[in-house]
Amino acid sequence: MPMNTQGRPTQAGTATRSAVATFSGNRGLDHEEALIFEIGTTEKSGVDLPAPPKHTSRLGGLERKMPIGLPGLSEPEAMRHYVRLSRMNYAIDSGIYPLGSCTMKHNARLNEKMARLAGFGDIHPLQPQKTVQGALELMELLGTYLMELTGMPAVALSPKAGAHGELCGMLAIKAAHDAQGSKRNVVLVPESAHGTNPATAAFMGYKVKSIPARHDGTVSVDAVKSALGPDVAAIMLTNPNTCGLFEPEVAAIADAVHAAGAYFYCDGANFNAIVGKVRPGDLGIDAMHINLHKTFSTPHGGGGPGSGPVVLSAALAPFAPVPFVAKTKSGYRMVEDTGVDEAKSAFGRLTAFHGQMGMFVRAMAYMLSHGSDGMRLASEDAVLNANYIRAGLSDLMSQPFGDKPCMHEVLFDDSWLKDTGVTTLDFAKAMIDEGYHPMTMYFPLVVHGAMLIEPTESESKASLDAFVTTLRALASAAKSGDTERFKGAPRLAPRRRLDETKAAREPKLVYTTPTKSAAE
Ligand SMILES: *Cc1c(COP(=O)(O)O)cnc(C)c1O
Repeated sequence: MPMNTQGRPTQAGTATRSAVATFSGNRGLDHEEALIFEIGTTEKSGVDLPAPPKHTSRLGGLERKMPIGLPGLSEPEAMRHYVRLSRMNYAIDSGIYPLGSCTMKHNARLNEKMARLAGFGDIHPLQPQKTVQGALELMELLGTYLMELTGMPAVALSPKAGAHGELCGMLAIKAAHDAQGSKRNVVLVPESAHGTNPATAAFMGYKVKSIPARHDGTVSVDAVKSALGPDVAAIMLTNPNTCGLFEPEVAAIADAVHAAGAYFYCDGANFNAIVGKVRPGDLGIDAMHINLHKTFSTPHGGGGPGSGPVVLSAALAPFAPVPFVAKTKSGYRMVEDTGVDEAKSAFGRLTAFHGQMGMFVRAMAYMLSHGSDGMRLASEDAVLNANYIRAGLSDLMSQPFGDKPCMHEVLFDDSWLKDTGVTTLDFAKAMIDEGYHPMTMYFPLVVHGAMLIEPTESESKASLDAFVTTLRALASAAKSGDTERFKGAPRLAPRRRLDETKAAREPKLVYTTPTKSAAE
């Protein structure tokens, strides 16, 4: 296939949808699309601006001498370019998105409408506070709801994603240790943890000590106890864990951690499994981030904005970051300074402003439209749906910890693929040809060839049945030696197997015009 210097097919029509060759390179009503630099020209413009009036330059000889080199397109060309690209993508709005640990649920249009109200969407963080009372009230109410749902007495709304929330919670824990003059330097992390947990601890300069998982995929209080010591600052544990299981000894783990003078950070990314059923505060957790963009809808994936508020226990509440919203007699006020000496133990500020307003509004709309009964029902349905998939596939696909009820996501491994010549990756790629986004692969790391499926509550029985039927057909094909179907997959996607690692490690972010020979 001809590639340009960017490692891309050189023209429309030469890409790799090889299964069915068409004259145009298009496939049905979906068009192949080249880079904007390859279809646009520097001479063209989508707008007709009047020539600038005569003026004397004030740039002192620093004017650009060369054309800027940006491609120009007419409006219909630009529109088609981006619409065609968008049709190569997959979204929760086009089908089930079973990416485990990510909680890809439906984003209600009502939430979008609310987030676009001018009083929320068009305001600026530096506006006088008396002009944004409604927005501050919403933040205060959201914080109150999050504390209510988690059973925790304090909340910091400013973290901008789950990983940022981890940093916030761990900085509060560090501030609490600093206030006691304690120099603890170790953080315990179970081996099933999301990569952001050890990354957060290491980023803050802690040594990460790994806790092994038991044969049933959970963490034992004994393993935690034997790792605890005077050097341990905190444990970072996910509950329900990344194997889709509720940690049965979580309360005993919290007791042991506290007895050793450490704090309990809970990764709350899987909160969707337990909203309205379990309050993390009742389990002895000191800090937990909530991925508003997972549990409380709001679009994510593909780099959409996140929001990771952190709830804190009474022990950590004094170490929460500023700013926060306070309700006073004369209205709502953003507290920027608590008067605590920052040089001593105060956390200070995590981000420039208050956090992700648009995500706050969407989460609030989700909460208000569901009500407390609806949020509980959503969790129950999320768990029910995951177990429905488990029951539909467990005779064909193996589960690392045996076939027993799971929480909101179901974990399979690759031992059932042994000797078929098909790997987890091949299986996932074959799902794309069937019109499904793959599940989470090779995570959690404790399980060989992991396939983690999280349907969420959004899916109907019909949608789950279609998904199960397709996966059963694929599983049977893999077992009956139809390796060609898998090795060549995806055959029907706009692109086939790309070197994603290389793309991430060596991204090409600058376009250079390909030389003639390189283009051929
Ligand atoms: C998604 C996730 C995170 C990180 O959240 P981001 O918002 O992507 O930063 C952390 N832990 C677990 C278990 C997750 O699923």
